[in-house]
Amino acid sequence: MSWLGRPISTTRLVRTYNASTVLRTLYEYGRCSRSQLTELTGMSPATITRITADLIKQGVVLEGGPGKSTGGRRPVYLHIDQSKLYVASVKLLRDDSQIAILDLEGRILTLEYLNPPSLAPDDLLDTVITSLKRSFESLSIKQEHIIGIGVAVSGICQPEEGRVIRSVNLGWVDVPIASILGESLRLPVFVENDANACALAELWLGNARDTKNSMYIKTESGAGAGIISNGTLLTGPHFVTGEIGHIPLVPDGERCRCGQRGCLETYVYFGDVQARYLLRTGEKVALSAFLQRVQEGEEASVKIVQETAPVLALACAHWGIPLDLDIITIGGFWGRFKEDIVEYCQRYYNTILEQSGIPSHATILGSSFDDNVDLLGAAGLVIDHWFTPFSVPFAR
Ligand SMILES: [Zn+2]
Repeated sequence: MSWLGRPISTTRLVRTYNASTVLRTLYEYGRCSRSQLTELTGMSPATITRITADLIKQGVVLEGGPGKSTGGRRPVYLHIDQSKLYVASVKLLRDDSQIAILDLEGRILTLEYLNPPSLAPDDLLDTVITSLKRSFESLSIKQEHIIGIGVAVSGICQPEEGRVIRSVNLGWVDVPIASILGESLRLPVFVENDANACALAELWLGNARDTKNSMYIKTESGAGAGIISNGTLLTGPHFVTGEIGHIPLVPDGERCRCGQRGCLETYVYFGDVQARYLLRTGEKVALSAFLQRVQEGEEASVKIVQETAPVLALACAHWGIPLDLDIITIGGFWGRFKEDIVEYCQRYYNTILEQSGIPSHATILGSSFDDNVDLLGAAGLVIDHWFTPFSVPFAR
């Protein structure tokens, strides 16, 4: 496997299991002494000494000042050098493609909206390449300090090859994004479906940080789910795990664009909400105005929220309970309706558990991120690969 000329000298090092485990622990805990690392990783003190010496030599880990003594010698704390490492993020969505550079904490240092000449793969990806190069330059970031590029795409993706199999949203079929971006930018590239990327954003940077079993339900720009089970993103042999948007949930429900009735997508996709509102009131409403009207208690918009709540509740229960999840995050604007949506879904979920006697529990929440969740998700994708040993990182 070629590393596409990836210059970062830590590459081989982090791909060894022990070094990844130490980095992952430092990332999770912020800073640790060598003896804490020994305790948390279960490795021997000699192994920890050797690995941390390597990581310090590589410049990825720094030694901070001494901590408080608990009797013996004062321990020296270690932490990841955040100033050394960055992630590049790409969101590919019709009319709303963006790139960003983030640090490992998920802080966005720069964000750019793309304006490609067309949505054709060459045009859009050329625009991505040009604006990423411009951002590296304007932030004076050396390429070797970027651990990878994450790409979140609306569509079905083959993550191991970094390929979009099909994106209805972009009108793409079989586009090898990772090899196109990787060859040009000489960096590892990771490509994922947007709902999966968002699930990783919650896992690494948001609500699902402290659990290994969670689901992110994407809404607003479509419908889908990203599922993390036992700390790992589920993808499936055909890369369609989490494609819950067009599985009918409501018998004789609203007619969906796919021809069926009662799909989750037709209830949560804002384009469909807008069409329903127009049909009922004769008025086309923008998202911000729709949210405002719900706040004000306007009848038609409140009715739409009330109709959507049971459908999202069904989705949470149908997927969350059999998967025995701890956290379910409702993304998009629906997750911001605390009482009418989030708490409604939680009550429905709890009632099913009580009635059926299934010994499980999940907390349902709105997303941790108001905006930019796709970009954070793409960053989460890179972080996930970087800290997960032996993952296949990009197209060969
Ligand atoms: Zn449908």
